[in-house]
Amino acid sequence: MTTEALCVVKYGGAALGSEESLRDVIRELRARKGPIVTVVSAREGVTDLLKAATADPASRARHEEVLRKLTALHAGGPREVTLALRALERQLTRLRSAMRQLPPRARRYPSTRAPVVLSDAILAQGERLAAHWFADRLRHGRVAARALEADLIGLSTDDHHGEAIVLLDRSELPVRRAVTPLLRRGQVPVVTGFLGRSPSGKVATLGRGGSDYSATCLGYLLGASRVELVKKDVSILTADPRIVPAARPLSRLSYEEAEELAQFGAKVLHPLTVEPARARGVEVVIRSLEDPTRTTTIGPALPGEGIRALTLLSPTAMLLLRVPGGRQRRGVIAEVSRTLAAAEVNVITMFTSSALLIVLVEMASGRKARRALDPFARGDGASLEGPLEAALVTAIGEGVLADLGGLPGDVASRALGVSATSRTLSFAVPMASGRESLVSLHRALVELPRAVTLEGTVRGT
Ligand code: ASP
Ligand code: MG
Repeated sequence: MTTEALCVVKYGGAALGSEESLRDVIRELRARKGPIVTVVSAREGVTDLLKAATADPASRARHEEVLRKLTALHAGGPREVTLALRALERQLTRLRSAMRQLPPRARRYPSTRAPVVLSDAILAQGERLAAHWFADRLRHGRVAARALEADLIGLSTDDHHGEAIVLLDRSELPVRRAVTPLLRRGQVPVVTGFLGRSPSGKVATLGRGGSDYSATCLGYLLGASRVELVKKDVSILTADPRIVPAARPLSRLSYEEAEELAQFGAKVLHPLTVEPARARGVEVVIRSLEDPTRTTTIGPALPGEGIRALTLLSPTAMLLLRVPGGRQRRGVIAEVSRTLAAAEVNVITMFTSSALLIVLVEMASGRKARRALDPFARGDGASLEGPLEAALVTAIGEGVLADLGGLPGDVASRALGVSATSRTLSFAVPMASGRESLVSLHRALVELPRAVTLEGTVRGT
């Protein structure tokens, strides 16, 4: 098998959503030469249905409704589909009985949720159904497809159920062993995205949108030269077009830029998607099924090619901690970070002066962060403010700091904190002015420079 030519192609839920797009997918797979591994996410709407089932853990009526809808969505599927539906039915029964064992008060408590491990087992059924159903449809379309369930072939994760990380070293041998023989026989493996096997042997899911991440992990593990993420009506733009109508598509991004973009809140990519590809130099192409001209390629940085893209993370929770003695006190930043980590609070970013430490965390962790940091606020001269609602606007692109001079005054004057590296420039602003700041930064950093270049070209000719 020549691994250089191997291509991993991931089809999102929407690409498998309608009969029409399914036909397109089968047609393109039949036409392709060279070894291909496909990765699928659940069909459109399926993960939301399963989530709804776990969010209503005691409701038999809700569970039956979900089962009915899933049965209809995978009608005509092979035996494995029936088996997965039965397994799901048993899991939902188990969930209801787990809920009945809780004391009545806890049962009524609205935030009572399904236990994470069982919940992951339930969510994972969406991808299992999709893989078996899709492989079967491919076989009917004369593509020699074989479904593989990622946890069963040894794709290992850590034990963070619901947002697990793939353990690449551990997964490499078993995954290669499962996939390579199929490729040798000219078959097309259809691997479930979004899931893997946790250290306890249970299925763990990788977080919403996680099958993009599954695809780049498989690219890494199998030594693919390219990973294609096929999405419907999605492109990577310079900003969210719902907020910035002037946003334009980006045809190329460096790994580093794409990684920042995903981590700073561009929802088109799961935040961990880029790293496995970068680590082994696998090219990532994001393309749309209906418009083949709309692609974004993610690869190594090319000289002089900095892009400008903007993201908005909102709302986030901001805490302002005044530490007496400030930076003179050795290890104070480490102490704060350790305390937050111990409380399982994820820090988005930190702004520091010598005595003031501003921490930005996810909105849902704001109060938890406050409680964890409270002890730092005792004592003379110490104080803790927040959580306040803030938005984080980030400009991304190699060399972005060269644009500092052209920054719009309105954003700078609203800023509650700024942090920067050579390829990112982030402003925390009050939540109410997040969108406005995004629009205004986009104008200054993306629209104006481009207008100037075009004008220059016209004059020059
Ligand atoms: N089906 C999962 C989700 O909806 C994973 C994915 O779509 O990538 O989040
Ligand atoms: Mg998806």
